[in-house]
Amino acid sequence: KKYVYSFKEGNKDMRSLLGGKGANLAEMTNLNLNVPNGFTVTTEACNRFYEENEEIWQDLENEIISHLHELESSTGKQFGSTENPLLVSVRSGAVQSMPGMMDTILNLGLNDKSVIGLANKSSNERFAYDSYRRFIQMFSDVAMEIPKAYFDSVLDSVKEENNRDKDTELTADELKEIVEKYKKVYKREMNEDFPQDPITQLKLATKAVFKSWNNQRAKIYRKLNNIDDKLGTAVNIQSMVFGNMGENSGTGVAFSRNPATGDSNVFGEYLMNAQGEDVVAGIRTPKEIHTLKEQMPEVYKEFEDTIKRLESHYKDMQDLEFTIEEGKLFILQTRNGKRTSSAAINIAVDLVNEGLISKEEAIMRVSPDSISQLLHPNFDPEDIKKSTLISKGLAASPGAASGKIYFTSEKAKLAAQNGEKVVIVRQETSPEDIEGMIIAEGILTSRGGMTSHAAVVARGMGKCCVAGASEVKVDEENEVMRVDSREYHTGDIISIDGSTGEIFEGEVKKINPTLSGNFEIFMKWVDEIKRLKIKANADTPQDATQAIEFGADGIGLCRTEHMFFKENRIIAVREMIIAKNIIDRKKALDKIIPFQRDDFYKMFKALNGHSFTIRLLDPPLHEFIPHNEEDIKKLAEELNIDKKVIHDTIIELAEVNPMLGHRGLRLAVTYPEIYRMQVRAIMEAAIKCKKEGISVHPEIMIPLSIDRDELNFVKKEIMEEINMVFEENSEKIDYKVGTMIETPRATILAGEIAKVADFFSYGTNDLTQMTYGFSRDDSGKFINEYIRKGIFEKSPFETLDIKGIGYLIKMCTENGRASNPNIQIGVCGETGGDPQSIKFYNEINLDYVSCSPYRVPIARLAAAQAEI
Ligand code: PEP
Ligand code: MG
Repeated sequence: KKYVYSFKEGNKDMRSLLGGKGANLAEMTNLNLNVPNGFTVTTEACNRFYEENEEIWQDLENEIISHLHELESSTGKQFGSTENPLLVSVRSGAVQSMPGMMDTILNLGLNDKSVIGLANKSSNERFAYDSYRRFIQMFSDVAMEIPKAYFDSVLDSVKEENNRDKDTELTADELKEIVEKYKKVYKREMNEDFPQDPITQLKLATKAVFKSWNNQRAKIYRKLNNIDDKLGTAVNIQSMVFGNMGENSGTGVAFSRNPATGDSNVFGEYLMNAQGEDVVAGIRTPKEIHTLKEQMPEVYKEFEDTIKRLESHYKDMQDLEFTIEEGKLFILQTRNGKRTSSAAINIAVDLVNEGLISKEEAIMRVSPDSISQLLHPNFDPEDIKKSTLISKGLAASPGAASGKIYFTSEKAKLAAQNGEKVVIVRQETSPEDIEGMIIAEGILTSRGGMTSHAAVVARGMGKCCVAGASEVKVDEENEVMRVDSREYHTGDIISIDGSTGEIFEGEVKKINPTLSGNFEIFMKWVDEIKRLKIKANADTPQDATQAIEFGADGIGLCRTEHMFFKENRIIAVREMIIAKNIIDRKKALDKIIPFQRDDFYKMFKALNGHSFTIRLLDPPLHEFIPHNEEDIKKLAEELNIDKKVIHDTIIELAEVNPMLGHRGLRLAVTYPEIYRMQVRAIMEAAIKCKKEGISVHPEIMIPLSIDRDELNFVKKEIMEEINMVFEENSEKIDYKVGTMIETPRATILAGEIAKVADFFSYGTNDLTQMTYGFSRDDSGKFINEYIRKGIFEKSPFETLDIKGIGYLIKMCTENGRASNPNIQIGVCGETGGDPQSIKFYNEINLDYVSCSPYRVPIARLAAAQAEI
């Protein structure tokens, strides 16, 4: 079996065998570009290395040595030569790029003899010994795991003795002294001399690169990025070229287009008389690539031709590393370049227009999650560099917010009324905080996961939110937030980044996203291809309007309980809850209905003909009742009743497990008049709109069903009320009645339930909670632990668990459709906006997904990708 390929023998489609770097080096070699010659040891060799107890077996060694001899004859250089020594780089090359995760050794082949050869060849003794001491340190660190610090302390002491500030000021003699001392460190640590034989060096270096596949940071990186542990890494052995051989040499990094904006001009930097690491290390300021045109016109022309040629060849923007050795251009690496989301869109559209790729290819090039960056203002990256990071939480809802800290919604509201910008900081939020959240710039919580109240509501509002920042201790009572020994009080300014989860001290400057014309063009292509409808979860006219602007096909979930919390109606809601009999309850409901009618009227108007799925009241009633003494007193006064009545109600409504308690349909079976009030408000609003010429498509959604008879009981109640409204007004509206599927029992009985439902909408938040038996509000803590320990890949609350819950959903969909072929089926839980979950929903032929307005463009793109 062949384990080593010279660059001539490979091509770009051999990534899995040669790794990304090796495959591209081979491809470029065969395009006749100036690539320093070399060869690649395959990923299969890496895997066998692990089977052979981490040893390089004899046949592999022989294969490497024979390629090395070939390299010597093709370059005219020899390993260990005192005249023209061959030096090589030994670099890892995984199948998928894992930047900075694995090891590299440069200048391999240097020893006491070849260093003289290098000095002679370059006429630069200083350069030769500088390379040698770097090699000893790099080799010792990477291959032998001798701590770098041992070498650094030698370097520092020689610098001090000779009064040298910078490494670059060291003379050749001083560097020679360092080399001698480095070799002593090596001997002390390894009990043997620094290996002088280049073949031994190469063998040890290859082994080290193989081993770096399993170093801690590489393992973690793979876990985070879903890269298979079994892929293994290739090893690239390539003859060195030097950009530091004088003023005629240099090195640089360039992109074929601007990776920040997508502009089609070449973009990059270079340094003359320098080695690769100098550009990155920032010791000298690199020059802008276009000045190379004046400095070395011929080299520049060749460079420009090469980069454009590679771009058309790979049909994507390229990120190139190059070196100029004594006026000759060498290409050391090419790969598809990383880019910002706006650049990704601009480049994809330009490449289609230039005829290089198809629309489908363009759509596959843009990652759905990345476009959320385009929809919110962001912090200025320059200003972030200058800011102090306080801590980091979950990136719960993208956006950038700065403002004064407030610990209660009331105080935040007052401050906002006085024109202050506010960031609400709480342990966690509850529905009571809605108003505070509406006026806040952003929300920071110390507890709760991605589906905690704060996160879900913030995403729904398109509001910046960092949730579950567990290092931040929030003392709501004393209005102080602590991180380690630092304290932040009411009125202190912080900035939070909902796209990264970062929390900064003070105000960080913002820059507005520019939604270019290309974004619209791109999204039009997306809509041409996708099949799934994308609806939005929204319960205010503003959110509804935003959702439509972002391309939503209507509203898929309006959580009506959020309407109950608004100013001046919560009182009536509480009165309704405290009512002891149906007459009093109806009296209170009569006070609520005008508000609800107005809410729905405004929503219908904002939707202007788009479908509107309205979910009737879901949470248990005690969520609406105040629990602290002060608020209870206030409520008693407002309702003109004894405090005791409220206390009694609280005791009466208390539940050990509210999430599995008296909510959803159970509430409606007990108090049908509540749903009757809601549907009356809906139909009265709809009739009003119809009369004004606004088309309306209400879809009434009943939460948490478990059973056909239960659903039918409530359905009859509400249809009776609706028919009354129609008769009273001598007018009719087309409407649907459907249910959310959120309990495991409902998924099993779908065939029966579908007979009485016009549509199903999977509430994956509750369905996940109930199927796993994990509380959606408390499970963040241990789910993170499961992810860290590799038991879960992701939280099932964010990305659908296809194996388990996906199975239920698929079965439920099939049985539902079998008994009611016209049934419409969608999803409105959090997973409805998750690209990976959308792929599955598309596959099992659902009709739609519904997500927060700001996720609508992301979901559209994911749905198009799922079709390709
Ligand atoms: C759900 O459970 O998935 C859902 C959409 O409803 P809610 O989050 O309001 O319980
Ligand atoms: Mg639910």
